Amino acid sequence: MTQPLSYVQHRPDNPWSTYLAQVDRVLPYLGRLAHLAETLRRPKRALVVDVPIELDNGTLAHFEGYRVQHNLARGPGKGGVRYHPDVTLEEVMALSAWMTVKNAAVNLPYGGAKGGVRVDPKKLSIKELERLTRRYTSEIGLIIGPQRDIPAPDVNTNAQVMAWMMDTYSENIGHTATGVVTGKPVHLGGSLGRVKATGRGVFVTGREAARRLGLNLDGARVAVQGFGNVGSAAAELFTGAGAKIVAVQDHTGSIANPGGLDMSELVPQAHREGGIGNFRACESLDNESFWDVDCDILIPAALEGQITAQRAERIRAKLVLEGANGPTSPAADDVLRERGVLVVPDVICNAGGVTVSYFEWVQDFSSFFWSEDEINLRLDKIMVDALRKIWDTADQHRITLRTATFAVACERILMARQERGLYP
Ligand code: NAD
Repeated sequence: MTQPLSYVQHRPDNPWSTYLAQVDRVLPYLGRLAHLAETLRRPKRALVVDVPIELDNGTLAHFEGYRVQHNLARGPGKGGVRYHPDVTLEEVMALSAWMTVKNAAVNLPYGGAKGGVRVDPKKLSIKELERLTRRYTSEIGLIIGPQRDIPAPDVNTNAQVMAWMMDTYSENIGHTATGVVTGKPVHLGGSLGRVKATGRGVFVTGREAARRLGLNLDGARVAVQGFGNVGSAAAELFTGAGAKIVAVQDHTGSIANPGGLDMSELVPQAHREGGIGNFRACESLDNESFWDVDCDILIPAALEGQITAQRAERIRAKLVLEGANGPTSPAADDVLRERGVLVVPDVICNAGGVTVSYFEWVQDFSSFFWSEDEINLRLDKIMVDALRKIWDTADQHRITLRTATFAVACERILMARQERGLYP
């Protein structure tokens, strides 16, 4: 009797279809819980909102906004907000579902959610961006809240956007509610260590995977796609461990230096100029050649769908660390497995951000704030413990780390679903 969802398109290349294929792969490992798996294939709630704002020139513009709560069996929704001209409902659904899996994989007491606005924020003034953020927050205010669903930064959103979201939600309910979003500025209830937490998690899981592969990080060659919050922080930490960043790509271009790009110059320049395109101390590459670069570790940290089956044939790294969400298609996953390339999947690799977001939320409730060392130590332990359990599961069933992460996480999600029972 279960009807397919009528509001999504099942195109093979869209992120929701990628997520559904990943769920299909985990079914044989769910045992008796597999009969509840349909709950993983359907978002609990998907809100589409109109976001009208007045532009600085006095005209009116309308943007499409979304907030999807994929699953709330284990706790409030948790997941970022993305501003990008290509955002679609299917993309936000997939990102919200990956949050459900990720939060369960590191055993945080959260469900999964995600939001987005279909807008190119680079074309808006700062005042327009603020009006867009405030109106979007008001529209999704129906379903968010510190105990209901807690947004955070994602592509093209940052601490300032979170401050506007927190202020708007607080004004609407009549008191300050710092715990409604995470990734806030530190003096507004934000957490030390949050800005670099996702990159740090990529580094920690990468360090552990490299150790198991017998790959020495000292001198290892690393290529990074996407040099924003996640990619640049991961690159700095790998450099600190002795690795060389031999190639970087972002939306402004691709650059390489087999001797290692100088992170102490590249990171501030990329932040200042909004991209790496004008960096001098390097060779420039054409964008497609980035995938042929000779390296030991590849970190996709941009957008979904970047590692296609065709690119997977050319990747020369031994280890792929998925900083981005959904960068690898299921067909590319198969190619990489056959070629012996180890993939640490997004649903564990980039979980450092949401883990420190959880620390921020806990600190906001108790109004007692931790030191950065304490945060980084706790983050390291959670990531290492989670990866160990996933690795053991992968060894036990002889499956990829992605399917093993789904197995660990989906068992927790479906167990919660079973124990709570079906209402009414
Ligand atoms: P960001 O906006 O800070 O950076 C995005 C980067 O991707 C930029 O360097 C941009 O130039 C690059 N990029 C965009 N389009 C590109 C293209 N077509 N080709 C190459 N590069 C391109 O975003 P972020 O927060 O660093 O997020 C990056 C990825 O990490 C996303 O998939 C996001 O969902 C995921 N992620 C982010 C967090 C977080 O805490 N920010 C947490 C978990 C996962």
